[in-house]
Order: sequence, then C-alpha cells, then structure tokens
Amino acid sequence: MTLRTLDSLGSLEGKRVIVRCDLNVPLRDGVITDDGRVRASLPTLNALINAGARVIVCSHLGRPDGAPDPQYSLEPVAQRLSELLGKPVAFARDTVGESAHDAVESLEDGGVVVIENLRFNPGETAKDDVTRQAFAAQLAELGDALVSDGFGVVHRKQASVYELAELLPSSAGLLIAAELDVLDRLTETPERPYAVVLGGSKVSDKLGVISHLLPRVDRILVGGGMLFTFLKAQGHPVAASLLEEDQLDTVRGYLAEAEQRGVEIVLPTDVVVAASFSADAAHEIAAADSIEATAFGASGIGLDIGPETAARFAEVIRSSKTVFWNGPMGVFEFPAFAAGTKTVAQALTEVDGLSVVGGGDSAAAVRQLGFDDDQFGHISTGGGASLEFLEGKKLPGLEVLGWA
Ligand code: ADP
Ligand code: MG
Repeated sequence: MTLRTLDSLGSLEGKRVIVRCDLNVPLRDGVITDDGRVRASLPTLNALINAGARVIVCSHLGRPDGAPDPQYSLEPVAQRLSELLGKPVAFARDTVGESAHDAVESLEDGGVVVIENLRFNPGETAKDDVTRQAFAAQLAELGDALVSDGFGVVHRKQASVYELAELLPSSAGLLIAAELDVLDRLTETPERPYAVVLGGSKVSDKLGVISHLLPRVDRILVGGGMLFTFLKAQGHPVAASLLEEDQLDTVRGYLAEAEQRGVEIVLPTDVVVAASFSADAAHEIAAADSIEATAFGASGIGLDIGPETAARFAEVIRSSKTVFWNGPMGVFEFPAFAAGTKTVAQALTEVDGLSVVGGGDSAAAVRQLGFDDDQFGHISTGGGASLEFLEGKKLPGLEVLGWA
C-alpha cells in the first residue's frame, strides 16, 4: 500500500484541516537560528491555503515535559511563518482549550492559525494508549481532516502523529511525500558507488543504521564522536574522547562483516585533539592511532577529524554516485572544530549524482557553514526518522497513512 496523498481528502474548500508539522526549530533567546523546518512546511500549507481550507497548524517544540513552558512557545514560529507565507497567521495561546477553539472559529477560508505547542499537554507523548487517544480526541474536535507532514516525528507513536490520524480522514502532506521519494531512492535503487558518511554524537543510535546499510552500500565513512569507538575497537587509545565502551563488541562485529562483504569502512587517519571541550581550547593534530601522544596526554579530547582525513573523505564522496550523510564530523558549533564538517559538506555539493543530508544538527551545520539547501540533492528534515527508515524499521506515523 502506498501513502494516502492530499487528493484522497477530496475538496477542502471551507474545511478545517489540521496540519501536523515539525516546526521544532532551534531557538536562542527566543530567536529562531535555523528556519529550515518552517520553510519545509510551506508547500503543503500553500497548497491548502490555495484550496480554500481553514488551516490549523500544530507542532511540538523542544521537550517541555507535558506542561506549558514559555521558553518553548510556538509564538516566534507563528511570526516567522506569517513572514514566509506573506499573510497574517493567528496564534492560539493553548492547544485544545478556549483560545484554540476561538481562533479556529474565527478562521476564514484560506486562513491560518498556529496552535500552541502540542507537548504542553501530557497526552501528546504519553506512554499509555488511552491517554494519547483522549488527547487526540480533543485535537480532533478542532478539525475535519488531518494532513500529516511532520516528517521528523513519523517514527514516534504520539497522539498528533498516530492516534489523530486514525480519528480523522487523514493523508500525508507534500513534505512527507518528498522525503519518502528520496529515501526510497536510497534504499531501492541507489546508483553506485554508494557511500554513507556517519558522524555526530549519538553513537549507539547510528550503529543500527550501519548494520542495515552494510549489505547495501559500498563505502561507510566514520567521523564525529562515534569514530572513537571505532578506533578503540581497533585497539587504539582515544584519551578522553567520546567513547561508548558497551558498543565495542558490536563495532568489532561490523568491521568484520564489512571486510567479509567487501564494504570499505573509511576511518580517520588523523584527528584534531583539544585540551578541553570548549570553543577556545588549545588543540593539536594527532595521528588517529596515537591520540594520547599530544601535549594533553590522556586528557585530550578529539573534537574533529584531521585535515588529511577530511581530504580523503572528500575524495571518496566526490567519486560516489549516491551519498547519504548523517552527523557532523566534529563539534562544528565551535568554529575551531568545524573544518572537517565543512570539507565534507563542500564535497557533497560536488557529487555527480544524489547527495542527501539527514539529521537536525547536520542540516543546521551546513546552513551555519554558509551552504544553501539547493546545493544538495536533498536535506532531510527528520534525523531520527530518516535513520529509522534507512534501518528498514516500520514507522508508525507512516503506516497509519497507508504506507506498507
Ligand atoms: P544529527 O542531529 O545530524 O543526527 P547528532 O545529533 O548525532 O547529529 O550529532 C550532532 C552533535 O555531535 C553535534 O552537536 C556535535 O557537536 C557533536 N559531535 C560531533 N563530533 C563530536 C566529537 N568528536 N565529540 C563530541 N561531540 C561531537
Ligand atoms: Mg541531533
């Protein structure tokens, strides 16, 4: 079965359509630092506006713990959305209360309201089905149909993603359809050579994707915080760098499987080692097999891949026809440790084929480093969701929309 699309909902003129977006943008002091997810929601919202629907936008933002918390209000997002749509956007101060109901009642055809953060309500992410269903029923009162377009949350069984889609006539939005189109190309018919570049901090998260992709790819490049678990697995000391001891055996298993399958695992040959985890830390380049041999000894922390590694990664990427990248190569938030990530991003823009960036921090990194979205084949809005898709997992938020 394939995903239900917008046309499956019939004429939407005058109908109240709830759109579940992923507007979980990074904020600093109430200011949006990367509006990529707001921009990504525009095609679906414009389609609904043009169809004369009354559009009710909902999303989560941050982790507010099931109660209102002003620092996670969606109000700045509603303002940004209004600027990007070029029309007024109403904002409701609650999610399913009086303010939301009043705002929805005041909507005209083609009008838009953003209701307050879904996660200000414990029912959104509740563990038990009954509590989620009760919250979904409250949400359902606001609309006649649901368009699910928050790709970043389709791997979660949450009230607005799953139960609400069962209660109302529901379809996927254009963003989810576009994301799946690209991810399908990565799993079904990738052009070869196919390289996967992995980095970031969540080592254990990404080991799952390695095991699923090992039989499907030609090359896996490992950078970021997870590289140290690989180096350690090969018997090299990693000083005070990020390390997941409990994954060493798993990593050794992957190295052996890769060798058996003829998959090349490209590991760093040099690393930027810092005196401490801070933006202005003193740092040196060390060979990957002797990270403890710097002036910082056993207290050194590897914060980026070294220049030799970055150049080699760039070469491998440029000579591939399909490249999927998830996870920054280093602590790019500190400019002194962003070089590896920048070199890899640059190489992705030069791929003669399909290049895909997945992951919230990876997407933020490429934008922060001055790249434009259209320099890449695709920038996925969902880190965890795209990884789970590539792991071959069933995603509840897609299954409920007819995907199988
Ligand atoms: P994504 O959101 O793209 O999936 P992750 O959340 O897995 O990526 O990882 C992003 C984080 O990884 C960044 O905040 C970055 O600072 C961190 N990181 C990258 N390299 C290292 C490293 N060597 N040590 C510690 N953290 C790292
Ligand atoms: Mg992240």
